[in-house]
Amino acid sequence: VSARVLDGRVVASRIWRELSGRVAALGEELPPRLAIVRFAGHGPAEVYAASLSRAARSIGVEPVEVIPPEGAGQKDVAARIEALNRDPLVCGIVVAQPIPEHLETGAVLAAIDPAKDVDGATPLNVGRLARGEAAFAPATALAVMAILRASDIPIAGRRAVVVGRSAVVGRPVASLLLGADATVMICHSRTRNLARETRRAEILVVAAGQPGLIRPEMVNRSAVVVDCGINTTPGGIVGDVDYAGLRPVVSAITPVPGGVGPVTTMMLLQQTVQSAERAADERRQAVERFSLPDGARSER
Ligand code: NDP
Repeated sequence: VSARVLDGRVVASRIWRELSGRVAALGEELPPRLAIVRFAGHGPAEVYAASLSRAARSIGVEPVEVIPPEGAGQKDVAARIEALNRDPLVCGIVVAQPIPEHLETGAVLAAIDPAKDVDGATPLNVGRLARGEAAFAPATALAVMAILRASDIPIAGRRAVVVGRSAVVGRPVASLLLGADATVMICHSRTRNLARETRRAEILVVAAGQPGLIRPEMVNRSAVVVDCGINTTPGGIVGDVDYAGLRPVVSAITPVPGGVGPVTTMMLLQQTVQSAERAADERRQAVERFSLPDGARSER
């Protein structure tokens, strides 16, 4: 028996259709905009911005790339983000990481308006998520949940183990799993005997950035394995788990590529569309508040 393969492309295309419909239903004269702030001279960020732009455009959202001049200081970068905060057409703002070393990552992200923070990076949204409140969440973490849900994998009461504790993947995934009533453990590079912990997982989420970290002897036969890793090797892009080795011994597994990656993009766009819908609602309400009473309108 071989594991069920949880195909992220199938999940992503279903979400794509839904989002395209929602953007069309907004019926706005000008398309909502997604601002992508990235820093020059970082290859992977450029690739990420290009692929995100393409995906945004395909659902009717207009991407706007903002590239601060090389060496731009903290104030300059914050001012560019604040201009996007004020722009009523911009519904989402993402800052591609890594951010250059001379800037403070936390301060750059904190400049984003939490209402436009569609990758869940601002202190307010991070805090809300940690408290278990409604919040914009990091897209990769949401993608893990979307794949589990679309595949009807039960989460409540299950033992979930997350390998990795970064702010972008490990921690938010753990918060979302906890919010879905899993019993969660987080492992990292200082975990003693990683295999002992991962073998206990009914749901195993791996976000370590280490190709082949999870080997067949480290998992339980009933495990559902979600691999967030994206590692460039001479043999191509691989995840953090030994896919060929695990596939025959677990119950379900996501491939790399074609697993978490494509769904991540859709989650970011989903939050952008949500933000656009909220902005459109607010505009409608403002118009209603300031419009003439019914009788007066009929005389025009
Ligand atoms: P980070 O490097 O920020 O974090 C890696 C985490 O894994 C750290 O917490 C680290 O522990 C832990 N770790 C590293 N080595 C081991 C080990 N041998 N045993 C146990 N834990 C270990 O990476 P990210 O979270 O940003 O990314 C993780 C992976 O996910 C990468 O491959 C990245 O490319 C991919 N990624 C995928 C995305 C997607 O859309 N699919 C989006 C973002 C990232 P410690 O804290 O102790 O150092």
